[in-house]
Amino acid sequence: MGKYAVGDFKLRVRRSRTGKGVFACEDIPKGACIAEYTGREVSDDEKGLDRGKFLFWVSKKRTIDGNIPQNRARYINHSCRPNCDAEGPNGRVFIMARRGIKAGEEITYNYGKEYFDQFIKPKGCKCLKCEPNGSPNGKAKPARANGKAKSNRPNGKGMSARANGKAKRRATRA
Ligand SMILES: [Zn+2]
Repeated sequence: MGKYAVGDFKLRVRRSRTGKGVFACEDIPKGACIAEYTGREVSDDEKGLDRGKFLFWVSKKRTIDGNIPQNRARYINHSCRPNCDAEGPNGRVFIMARRGIKAGEEITYNYGKEYFDQFIKPKGCKCLKCEPNGSPNGKAKPARANGKAKSNRPNGKGMSARANGKAKRRATRA
């Protein structure tokens, strides 16, 4: 496997500014394979349905539902300035460090324009680039709000990705 051998990095799922997120508990070097986005293969009949799933379109012919307990990668949030990329060789999706990541940082990757436009843009992106202080532009929020913030992340609104080199999540039409 080489490049896509998942490293044994300590990660933790905990509350983030957008609900649950995945955080590094140790430094992770650039280029490291952090996790595989795993799931159950979804049939053609299920692809068009919005059933609150974590769909990932990993290739033209293959969509997986990542909403299974073993798949901690389903908690990795979107960022417009991510520290990881989702790459998908052979219909699989791996989360790869695009730069060195420090212990304590949240793991993020870019879900892709289609998903962003459909699910994130209407509510406003909560990523570190778009909200460096954890507050939406022009709307003051208590500073502590990022710890208690309600999840606006459309978890399970149907996420998919195309694994053409850089995998992207693809919004599924309801
Ligand atoms: Zn953003």
